[in-house]
Amino acid sequence: MFKKIKFLAVLYSYKLKGILGLKRNDVMSTINDYYRTDFQKLEKKDVAVILPHCLINNKCPARFSKFDGVLCKKCDLCGCGEIQKSAKQRGYQFYITPSVGFTKRLVQRKNLKGVIGVACDYEIERGIHSEKVTNRGIRLNGRRIKTQGIRLHEYDCIHNNVDWEKIEELM
Ligand code: SF4
Repeated sequence: MFKKIKFLAVLYSYKLKGILGLKRNDVMSTINDYYRTDFQKLEKKDVAVILPHCLINNKCPARFSKFDGVLCKKCDLCGCGEIQKSAKQRGYQFYITPSVGFTKRLVQRKNLKGVIGVACDYEIERGIHSEKVTNRGIRLNGRRIKTQGIRLHEYDCIHNNVDWEKIEELM
């Protein structure tokens, strides 16, 4: 009960963060904590690790599929290849997405129930204001998704980086 009250309080405070000065880190870790138990009960085949395409190397040789996003060749020019290997070994689905709209359609097309996702502060803020974040999951294209999220710690849309170890930990 306390967890639920904390979750709702942090969420609604975040929406008013201009007034209350709440940090993005706080909201992400509160959402992760709140969904973690239910997320861990999901079958891995129903969960995808979804990375943003801004993490791929400038010389990325991968092709793009309209259905599955960037088809990583595990060339080792960026960290996405290693994450793909780990995700698949563990039984998760894996995608690299070009946009938030594409991610939402993936969730629907692949019947996902959970997502381990990476996003920049701008997208996190946009998502929390535009998607329905409820205590039963984030509603995306008619589905309720349990998420575990990680913030990009460095980004300017060209030079982006994430704590790759943290993604491994969440898997
Ligand atoms: S590891 Fe995958 S995503 Fe990264 S540059 Fe190579 S093919 Fe592209």
